Amino acid sequence: MIPYARQDVNEADIAAVEAVLRSDFLTQGPAVPRFEAAVCAAVGAPFAVAMSSATSALHVACAALDLGPGDIAWTSPITFVASANAARYCGAEVDFVDIDPRTFTICPERLEARLRRAKIAGKLPKVVIAVHMCGQSCDMEAIAGLAARYGFRVIEDAAHAIGGSFNGARIGSCAFSDITVFSFHPVKIVTAAEGGMAMTKDRDLARRMALLRNHGVTREHAEMTAPPMGPWCYEQITLGWNYRMTDLHAALGASQMDRLDAFVARRHEIADRYDRELQGLPVATPWRDPRGRSAFHLYVAQVDDPARRLPVFEAMRAAGVGVNVHYIPVHLQPYYRAMGFYPGQFRVAEAYYARAISLPMYPALTDEEQSEVVTAFRAALGA
Ligand SMILES: *Cc1c(COP(=O)(O)O)cnc(C)c1O
Repeated sequence: MIPYARQDVNEADIAAVEAVLRSDFLTQGPAVPRFEAAVCAAVGAPFAVAMSSATSALHVACAALDLGPGDIAWTSPITFVASANAARYCGAEVDFVDIDPRTFTICPERLEARLRRAKIAGKLPKVVIAVHMCGQSCDMEAIAGLAARYGFRVIEDAAHAIGGSFNGARIGSCAFSDITVFSFHPVKIVTAAEGGMAMTKDRDLARRMALLRNHGVTREHAEMTAPPMGPWCYEQITLGWNYRMTDLHAALGASQMDRLDAFVARRHEIADRYDRELQGLPVATPWRDPRGRSAFHLYVAQVDDPARRLPVFEAMRAAGVGVNVHYIPVHLQPYYRAMGFYPGQFRVAEAYYARAISLPMYPALTDEEQSEVVTAFRAALGA
């Protein structure tokens, strides 16, 4: 089976992890700051806080922005459930804004219209979590403009988007946001096996996120309520979690960062070839926003006829191609349905979902394997 996504682990990665195993620190050692520094350098952000997953990083990001009960967070219905759940962990209400059919990301015009109504209703969001679906950036300039006008904070869920850019700004530089979160799950662009990282330009937010990742415990004298009685002293000054990344994971991630540019370049080669070879088939290929460069975490084709999606999916799986669907709209999950969300509420997202199929996309996909995928897709589409 050719999977839809797969990690690329080389001998240097293995050696980096082995070196940690032979070292004094399996966790809370030097590999975590090394990984943080590597990501800061690659994406142009001054501060990074590595965590156990993007989900924990999203939770901490929401908490650091003081999202809590009585507050509202908005996100896209086309994302992994974690983007919305992060706000729920903080006790906030979640709502969704429909997507732009070309980018599959939050639609700035709909966002603006919703903000106008929310302002009148006195229900403005405190935080908007913008998801760079497939690695394609949201219209961050528009979102940042609206954030300034309506006074909400912005978290970029860039789980798909390390190595991408928008308007010349690298994703992760936080040029248009307060915090950007990356994921290092093995299906993503760079892997640490499990892991996530929150990037920010704001020193205080970085400090607060570092505190929340580690139980809310500080050893910085300046942060303590009283002078320490001795060098052993630490203070818990808020409620945090154990969301630390281990040195084993960080060493793998740091080693992978050496190949970030190569990974994204290879993803573009694969995408360009799909674009060419799927021409003339009854599918839509992804739109490329000329203002940005996608990191191409996913290559989503949309079958012209939604009734064909299931048979095409089954034919591909039967042919040994591990296609997938990203994502079931979050508002249609039973957990969210129970809050009152309903089918038909976010029509563009639902129409996108009905036609979407993710084709294999990862740097180690060979040209021969991609030929197999295209051949199987043609056959499945009856073309
Ligand atoms: C994978 C993913 C996450 C969660 O990442 P983890 O590191 O697995 O917690 C969050 N948001 C999006 C959009 C994702 O694709």
